[in-house]
Amino acid sequence: MREPIALAAISKAAARRYDRAVREPPISITCDCTAEGSVAYGTRWTCEQCGRTYDTAAIPRGEYEELLRGVRRYRLLALGPPFLLAAVLVPLAIWGGFQYALLLFVLVLAHGLLVMPQLRRRATRRVHELAPRWKLRPE
Ligand SMILES: [Zn+2]
Repeated sequence: MREPIALAAISKAAARRYDRAVREPPISITCDCTAEGSVAYGTRWTCEQCGRTYDTAAIPRGEYEELLRGVRRYRLLALGPPFLLAAVLVPLAIWGGFQYALLLFVLVLAHGLLVMPQLRRRATRRVHELAPRWKLRPE
């Protein structure tokens, strides 16, 4: 009889939640018995159907880190420019006049409408390209 294994991966749903996620993307696990679960990296998951336990710490940290780098970079590019613009233009709007508030509004809107969709597409494509799958053995 072959040894049971579970497949672990970063789920596509997790990849789509990218821009909203504050935490690290979870690892989705598909047990040998077809049951599925989702846990944080480094934690154990016990299958509810067959009771096997898998440890996601068995996944090479380096491979998971590479994914995290993409997530962090995306977050920085998504949130950095609006915060930077606000830091400069909010004081200007208070002391310099309403036109700076309007400028801030237009620039943040432009970032959201023109830059963000491309960033999101690129980040999602990258996760799908890497699409790492790991095999975990039950404990
Ligand atoms: Zn199972």
